[in-house]
Amino acid sequence: MMRAKAKTVKSIKIDVDKCNGCRACEVICSSFHAAPRFSGVNPARARIRVIREPLADIYVPVFAGEYTAAECAGRDKYTIDGKEYEECAFCRASCPSRDLFKEPDSGLPLKCDMCESDPTLEEPWCVQWCLAKALVYEEREEEAAAAPEVEDLDVGIEAIANKHGWPKVLEAVNRMAKKA
Ligand code: SF4
Ligand code: SF4
Repeated sequence: MMRAKAKTVKSIKIDVDKCNGCRACEVICSSFHAAPRFSGVNPARARIRVIREPLADIYVPVFAGEYTAAECAGRDKYTIDGKEYEECAFCRASCPSRDLFKEPDSGLPLKCDMCESDPTLEEPWCVQWCLAKALVYEEREEEAAAAPEVEDLDVGIEAIANKHGWPKVLEAVNRMAKKA
C-alpha cells in the first residue's frame, strides 16, 4: 500500500486587474538569477514576462513554465476588451516556436523556480517587488504519494508477472537498469 505524506505546494496568484505593467518583477527576477546573483539586469532572462498593451491599459504577467521540445498543433486566440492577441501570447511554455523564456545567449529554456535558494525566501522576489500587489504568494500542504514499501513492491511486481510472465518482467527490468 502507498503511504501518503505531506508536501508543500507553492503558487503565485496573479491579479491582472492590479498589474500596472511596471515590469519590476522582470527586473528583480533577472537580477536574482544573474551569475553571480544580483550582478546584472536583463528582463530577457526573467522567468516572468509582462504582456503589455498600454493603450488598452491591459497588462498580463506570465510565469515561465515547462520546456516543450515540440510546438503544439492547436493554437488559442484571445480577445480581451476588444483587443485580439497573437496566438501563444499567454502561453507559459519555453517552446521552439518563439524566443520567450529562453536564455538569450545559449537558448536554454528558462523556468520559474520560485526563487529557490538557501536559506529559503519568505516570499519570491517578484512578489516582494510587486508594489501593486498583483502577485500574491501562497503555500498549501497537499498529500503526496510516498515511495512504496518493499513488501508493496513485491505484491506489485508479482501481479505484473502473473499477467505478463516473469521473463518479460526481467527483460524490462534489465532494459531499465541499462538506461539508469
Ligand atoms: S511588478 Fe507587479 S505591477 Fe509591476 S509588472 Fe510585475 S506584476 Fe505587474
Ligand atoms: S518566483 Fe522567482 S523565479 Fe519565479 S518569476 Fe518570480 S522572481 Fe522569477
